[in-house]
Amino acid sequence: MAILKVARMGHPILRKVATKVSSSEISQPDFQRFLDDMVETMHEYSGVGLAAPQVHRSVRVCVIELPEAPKRYPGKKKPSGLHIFINPEITFLTKDTSTYWEGCLSVPGMRGLVSRPNKVLVKYLDRQGTPQEMEVDGFLATVLQHEFDHLDGKLYIDRLVDTTKLVFDEEYEKYWLPDALED
Ligand code: ZN
Repeated sequence: MAILKVARMGHPILRKVATKVSSSEISQPDFQRFLDDMVETMHEYSGVGLAAPQVHRSVRVCVIELPEAPKRYPGKKKPSGLHIFINPEITFLTKDTSTYWEGCLSVPGMRGLVSRPNKVLVKYLDRQGTPQEMEVDGFLATVLQHEFDHLDGKLYIDRLVDTTKLVFDEEYEKYWLPDALED
């Protein structure tokens, strides 16, 4: 296993539409190793999700895991278990939105306020290549949409509620986190 290098905002790969993974590729040992490396990289940087373009591979894969007490997202206490999504397709199940302060390992040191639909259905392939479906809501629904955006070359800063809500981590903790914890 290996910790992969994370691409930062400005790297063109973060703005490309990623390509689908073929079913024959999924079973390849080097692809399976890549999945393990993505999980390890997400854990190393205390992320709750990571998309393949963020580690310089433009394919439609992401990993997500909300731990019990996420270091980068205090107050979010609903663990999700580890999920690996290959070729995910999302359907919005409601027009109701939730608003969360998002961060991104590719936009280090910053937070931004983003509204997204709060209930979604995801169809995807798991790491065995088996089709799966998952219905999610709340913060996890936001995390999924954030990661899937990476596969279409989008960053959360494209979706800010407004540009006054893009802040540095330190100011986030001082001025905005106390309110965010009440959600
Ligand atoms: Zn991100």
